[in-house]
Amino acid sequence: MSAQCASNIHTTCAYCGVGCGITAEVVDVDTRQVKIKGQSDHPANFGRLCSKGTALAETLGAENRLLHPLVDGQQVSWESALDQVAQRFMAVIDEHGPDAVAFYLSGQLLTEDYYVANKLMKGFIGTANVDTNSRLCMSSSVVGHKRAFGTDTVPGNYEDLEQADLVILTGSNTAWCHPIVFQRIKAAKKLRPEMKVVVIDPRRTATCEIADLYLPVKPGTDAFLFNGLLSYLSRLGSIDYEYLERHTEGFGSAIKAANETAGDIVTVALKCGLKEAEVATLFDWFRRTEKSVSVYSQGINQSSSGSDKVNAIINCHLATGRIGKPGMGPFSLTGQPNAMGGREVGGLANQLAAHMDFEPEDIERVSRFWNAPNIAQKAGLKAVDLFEAVAEGRIKAVWIMGTNPAVSLPNANRVAQALSRCATVIVSDCIHHTDTAEYANILLPALGWGEKDGTVTNSERRISRQRALLPPMGEARPDWWALCEVGRRMGYKEGFNFQSSHEIFIEHAALSGFENSPDDRLRDFNIAALSDISPQQYDQLQPFQWPLYKQETTGTSRLFADGQYFTSNRKARLLPIIPSLPKGELSEEYPLSLNTGRIRDQWHTMTRTGLAPQLNQHIAEPFCEIHPDDAAAINVEQDSLIRISSSYGKMLARAQITDTQQPGQLFVPMHWTGQLSSAGRMGPLINPVTDPFSGQPESKHTPVKAEAFAANWHGFVFSRKPLEVEGIAYWVKIRGRQFYRYELAGDAAIENFSHWSRKLLLSGVPHEEWQEYSDPSAGKYRAAAFVDGKLTGCLFIAPDSQLPERSWLASMFDAENLTDKDRLSLLAGIPMNQAANTGKTVCACFGVGENTIRNTIQQQQLNSVEAIGKCLNAGTNCGSCIPELQALLDAQ
Ligand code: SF4
Repeated sequence: MSAQCASNIHTTCAYCGVGCGITAEVVDVDTRQVKIKGQSDHPANFGRLCSKGTALAETLGAENRLLHPLVDGQQVSWESALDQVAQRFMAVIDEHGPDAVAFYLSGQLLTEDYYVANKLMKGFIGTANVDTNSRLCMSSSVVGHKRAFGTDTVPGNYEDLEQADLVILTGSNTAWCHPIVFQRIKAAKKLRPEMKVVVIDPRRTATCEIADLYLPVKPGTDAFLFNGLLSYLSRLGSIDYEYLERHTEGFGSAIKAANETAGDIVTVALKCGLKEAEVATLFDWFRRTEKSVSVYSQGINQSSSGSDKVNAIINCHLATGRIGKPGMGPFSLTGQPNAMGGREVGGLANQLAAHMDFEPEDIERVSRFWNAPNIAQKAGLKAVDLFEAVAEGRIKAVWIMGTNPAVSLPNANRVAQALSRCATVIVSDCIHHTDTAEYANILLPALGWGEKDGTVTNSERRISRQRALLPPMGEARPDWWALCEVGRRMGYKEGFNFQSSHEIFIEHAALSGFENSPDDRLRDFNIAALSDISPQQYDQLQPFQWPLYKQETTGTSRLFADGQYFTSNRKARLLPIIPSLPKGELSEEYPLSLNTGRIRDQWHTMTRTGLAPQLNQHIAEPFCEIHPDDAAAINVEQDSLIRISSSYGKMLARAQITDTQQPGQLFVPMHWTGQLSSAGRMGPLINPVTDPFSGQPESKHTPVKAEAFAANWHGFVFSRKPLEVEGIAYWVKIRGRQFYRYELAGDAAIENFSHWSRKLLLSGVPHEEWQEYSDPSAGKYRAAAFVDGKLTGCLFIAPDSQLPERSWLASMFDAENLTDKDRLSLLAGIPMNQAANTGKTVCACFGVGENTIRNTIQQQQLNSVEAIGKCLNAGTNCGSCIPELQALLDAQ
């Protein structure tokens, strides 16, 4: 590629499980400038992208990239690093056996990377200690699918969500977490207003924007609700007995359990904390609506009884025969871009490749296919247990790829401690400094999005290509390549001679069809039609939904239309579900239930979205949503700081007082890390209890207490370079376009702010100027540093959190020279140019702030979201900010 060129490349988004297609235009290879837009003919998104996908181009630079292999902090050659990995693994295996080593993978990996990792560990090293962060995301759905269908199958597709007359969104803030799916449902509802949408969630989220019915269910009681629905359907004669008879088994025990645990609406309402009328309406709508889809996500899965909740939902669809047909079915929305691909190659410790299990005939089959006599004979350790084994010293070497368990796992301080004591921690990542990388003995530079080449599978079983747009940065190499190199060094020469992702893909496709003929259809996952495609065909592979059997040219958009499942008798199974409440009793000491989740503009532990300035402006700090009564009880005000503690750990967050949160419940985001905040990690608080079948942690409920954080002072600082702010009780680092911003609060007094801030901001370069304003009696201090008239940093301190707007100060970093008037306004803390005082970003896609929207509504007398869009563009791309635009209109 030349330095200046323009080419359109079709690839797939790096983030959520919607799997949106992207058209990328490489504008300049040297400066890594890329233009991103939605791929108009990709069947997942038809041209739409959410704020995160839209901002992908901002994450392609060199900031915080891991560029070279490092061993014990020293840069080394790849050869040397790979030798070290192989030698350390072999030494541990020789002394302690294969179960003393482990891989921890990620739903961010491509299928080809995942395939090789599983082949190496399960097939050749001989242990199944390979798990993935998908365990934290949707492993309960995997269990639910396998128990009901005999395989891990998502039966339907996104079109079903548009064709349904009733869409039930349960445990899913679809508007923020799967924005393009939400936009598709919303658009369908606009076309067919008679379509009904129900949202079931303890929090009233942005998804309620399109809800005809909102059920603020008590945390963890979903299985009572769906058991109640099954019982209701049975009482009112709405069971499809013919379907049950021909295609299922287990209805008798399932309905008995449902009747006994949730046999009438009064009981259901009581158990779920709902009004009887709300429950009755949901049940009535479901009973009357043939075309019903039940969409669920982490609110169902992340639970100590997540698998049972999934089966309670599936039971209702099987009992009514509403599955495998247009507009009907249970639908699991996966979190990550390739959680499904990981499942397909056996990324979970209790699976083998190509949707096979640790059953003798599967083990034997895979062993034969791989020519791997040392194949693992039993399931390995699931994520939480795997890191507990690291903590206890049973696992002595772990290779972590593309994920950040020191942040994201429950009881995360214990995980960090385990890694700090583990003799060999290898981390493959495209990012250099992460909380997990801090503990690595060996760091291997992985390809970033935009450099990778392979495939991913989205929530509707659609396999799409991720294609390289740019050359690798530094010495970054594909994960599959590093795995093959290590495999060969460990003596497994034959199985790891792959020269390209294409070669891996065709082997993966061949395994899927191995002893799984189109006539027998023993396993659902089958893409054998692609087992002999050429590199060119792989390059040009168009998105398709599996299965794609040999000789077929189009994929399968919907499964189970024929009522044939993948159990031994081809019948689906209904399960008797005895609902249980979340583990962890509330107590006098820990009286509140802590819920966790994603926010609109960030992804996982922010290692990439945190680099995109436009994504950091909507919600800049870790926050805690709290009901007004609970806030009053602990004397917490809006935007003040709150300390949340569980019996495992503590965090600090900004209080957001809101009645969208139920009394007794708190919500915090999952994203902030130790790299970006002093105390914003939620992982350390989370109860490490798990679902007994899936091993998925109970991330939606931990007993906690909340108290006001008594800050001695509050402040913030802007700087063109990163600063050292360690030692301050509360700090959060926020990447802006021309600056880094730090929000600060101290619990101890600072003797001399002038001295302290000069040390922080001045760099001693020529022509540096310093201006300050101090009012010690009011506890106020402001300062600014300039070089050659250009603002290089500024700092504001106050006794409370009432500090100047940040957006206006941020705009000063765009100016080459500040006027005297600007300097005065800076030190006065008052914007002279109101147009620059845009306020907190509401629309991330177009960078439109709250003040701008308020002013425009007022000045132009706007009365609709569409009118705001026409004036400011806000809300016209991904649409995720529309609920906030509506709230601003309502407030006006
Ligand atoms: Fe990416 Fe957003 Fe599409 Fe998810 S919805 S795949 S984050 S663009």
